[in-house]
Amino acid sequence: MPIRHSSSTIFHWLENLSGAIASVCFPAGCLLCDQLLPDACRLPLCDNCLDSFQNIGPGSCDLCGQPGTFDPEFPKDLSFCPDCQRHRFAFQLARSYGLYKGPLARAIVLFKHEQIEPLGAWFASRLAELVQKEAERLAADVIVPVTLHRQRGRERGYNQVDVFGRPLARRLRLPYRPVLLVRSRPWPERHLLRTDEPWEAVRGAFAIREGGRVDNLRILLLDDVMTTGATLDACSRALREAGAKSVLGLTVARAGRPVTTFVTQR
Ligand SMILES: [Zn+2]
Ligand SMILES: [Zn+2]
Repeated sequence: MPIRHSSSTIFHWLENLSGAIASVCFPAGCLLCDQLLPDACRLPLCDNCLDSFQNIGPGSCDLCGQPGTFDPEFPKDLSFCPDCQRHRFAFQLARSYGLYKGPLARAIVLFKHEQIEPLGAWFASRLAELVQKEAERLAADVIVPVTLHRQRGRERGYNQVDVFGRPLARRLRLPYRPVLLVRSRPWPERHLLRTDEPWEAVRGAFAIREGGRVDNLRILLLDDVMTTGATLDACSRALREAGAKSVLGLTVARAGRPVTTFVTQR
């Protein structure tokens, strides 16, 4: 006797089949240089592109992580970059994985258009290594991502920081609080395409969501790129005012001034 399917059963079967096909990974090109990858599902970037990311190594500012070369004769307790000599950030310290240039900058821009989970996991691993290297100074109770203004978040449908923030929280076994910070003021239109975080655009632009509690917590504040530090500073200020014990900045990349020899002020 022939087996009869209702049209809805067949529809569901076809739907499941197409879902299964969509999740199979075919060889594909590196998202940055098109070199063919055997398994683009694992990580859609080739080894050459990954190796070209420039890490921020020793010699960067002890406070804000600004890359540079120190005068070895300069007293250690004054070994801060010109920014940190001029003013005090509201975060205790900040660290970044690499320089915001070349392929790393392009990889970060990809997140603004697409949630590439394997790349997010890869960045999370690098950031976890960074935290573990300075485990004591970067010890935190909770991870808080810098938020987008809700209007922009809604247009995009996600916050790009969550793509590496969630796996980072899992790796560090810390709670992740994606909705704690709110942006009360959007970026001014004229600054939307800029990455240099003008201070006047972010000053007072962040607040803690009503009912959000940060009393006495050590916060690991996460963002994709740090340039002037104005965004991390504005968020840190809001968190500190709400009672946070400390705020530590952590970003995938660091932009701003090119690698320089810090001018020492004696
Ligand atoms: Zn590549
Ligand atoms: Zn500094």
